[in-house]
Amino acid sequence: MQIQDNCVVSIHYTLTDDTGARLDSSEGTEPLTYLHGLGQLIPGLENELTGKIQGDQFQIAVQPHEAYGEYDKSLVQLVPHNAFEEVGEIYPGMQFQTNGPDGHPQIITIQEVNENGVTVDGNHPLAGKVLHFDITVGSVRSATAEEIAHGHAH
Ligand code: ZN
Repeated sequence: MQIQDNCVVSIHYTLTDDTGARLDSSEGTEPLTYLHGLGQLIPGLENELTGKIQGDQFQIAVQPHEAYGEYDKSLVQLVPHNAFEEVGEIYPGMQFQTNGPDGHPQIITIQEVNENGVTVDGNHPLAGKVLHFDITVGSVRSATAEEIAHGHAH
């Protein structure tokens, strides 16, 4: 069957950036299984999967506006050291998950630590990046009534 809304889809994927560096892959692990049509994947990838069938293979470059958004400089902020009192040692590159203003989980990355405070970056780590996916569609089936009610694949 073709991928459409309310299908449970399993895909194998490899994600690389513009330089060809591998960022993520399902190789050697379970495929990624999701319920199609609910925005569980980034829009550029989910749209491309619509209409595909089991066994299809394709490559796609997804622009930031259809992935994790453009890089937003206003999300880089200087916060006081005492905001991290409970964390202990902090260092550049360290990442935390917090709840963003809209209630969704947000990853913040420590950019710099100096005497003035701590510079944090609230952009998604993949914001502003063109994402290159290599996809193989593993399986496609209709979701059960329970899966549709729950809004996720079982
Ligand atoms: Zn469930």
